[in-house]
Amino acid sequence: MTTIAPGGRIGILGDGQLGRMMAMAAAEMGYFVHVFGPGKDSPAAQVSHRSTVADYTDKAALDAFARSVDVITLEFENIPTETLTYLSERVPVRPNARVLEITQDRYFEKIFISNLGIGTANFANVENIDELVQAISHIGTPSILKTRRLGYDGKGQARIDQASAIDPIWEEMQGAPSILEEFVKFRMEISVIVARGVDGETACYCPVENRHKNHILATTLAPADISKRLSSRAEEIAVEIATKIDLIGLLAVEMFVTEDDTILVNELAPRPHNSGHWTIEACAANQFRQIIRAVCGLPLASPVRHANAVMTNLLGNDIADWPKILQDPDNSLHLYGKGEPRDGRKMGHVTKLLPLNKKP
Ligand code: AMP
Repeated sequence: MTTIAPGGRIGILGDGQLGRMMAMAAAEMGYFVHVFGPGKDSPAAQVSHRSTVADYTDKAALDAFARSVDVITLEFENIPTETLTYLSERVPVRPNARVLEITQDRYFEKIFISNLGIGTANFANVENIDELVQAISHIGTPSILKTRRLGYDGKGQARIDQASAIDPIWEEMQGAPSILEEFVKFRMEISVIVARGVDGETACYCPVENRHKNHILATTLAPADISKRLSSRAEEIAVEIATKIDLIGLLAVEMFVTEDDTILVNELAPRPHNSGHWTIEACAANQFRQIIRAVCGLPLASPVRHANAVMTNLLGNDIADWPKILQDPDNSLHLYGKGEPRDGRKMGHVTKLLPLNKKP
């Protein structure tokens, strides 16, 4: 079935805050959400019609999940691809397993992007210490060694400088297949979120600037303060990747803008993204509504923004500032219903809107 009409049942794999905001958007549009993930009392389950707490490899639970929904999407890209393939034999899964196969692995992802003629930092595959030494001689220093799989927010990454001792760095990777990347001296980090529908229609939110602290997104400024030419190029890149990867759903494309205004793609995420939370207040249709439209085969909404915005993440104990945040009547506070505010844990975010003629 291509179109799932309002009243239909949407399955979401993953149970975090992105699933929570997707479930709320789906409910606003008249859908029923069944969320599937390993966490008890998860942020997504708290606001969903149904939830299953099970491992992603639990076939009996997956069978029951597939029977209970009309379409399945995800809020987390590290779902085993076998799980997606298994589910897709039962019910449409959007995005498909191949999209995840590519985006779960930094090496496959970079090969895919560079085969499209789109720039990335220079990179090399590294599976042992000899390959690491060889890669350093090609790529030079400073460079960054990253595990190919399961790294996020700077986890599984090590910077290599000229004076670095290589052995302990390789040991830290614990034999995990990795890539070595040239260290990019970027002027700005930006991202573009593009939606692509069942019929290939695409819609991009404007490029935004992302500022990180300790490798974790701290603030998003919408729009990014870049030229029209760069902005169009960034959108063009996002659309090209979404189209060629045959996405149905949402794709966040993280990019570096270098000093000489070259765009290099850093990372892809085939789901709603932290750098798109500002769209909840600033756009007629936010990223969560947009992905629901895309995976249900509905026409996409206009991604046009009616305000500029600054989104700030509330990490760990930042959440204790909620009374102060609410003192400013222009702040929109979002909390994710998580328990313990561990260091660096994404507990919520706050968005402040600005007029379109005021730079964020
Ligand atoms: P990632 O996990 O690849 O998204 O990296 C997290 C953050 O580390 C990025 O947002 C950048 O701030 C920084 N970073 C990652 N790769 C590079 C690179 N090749 N050159 C410079 N900074 C990088």
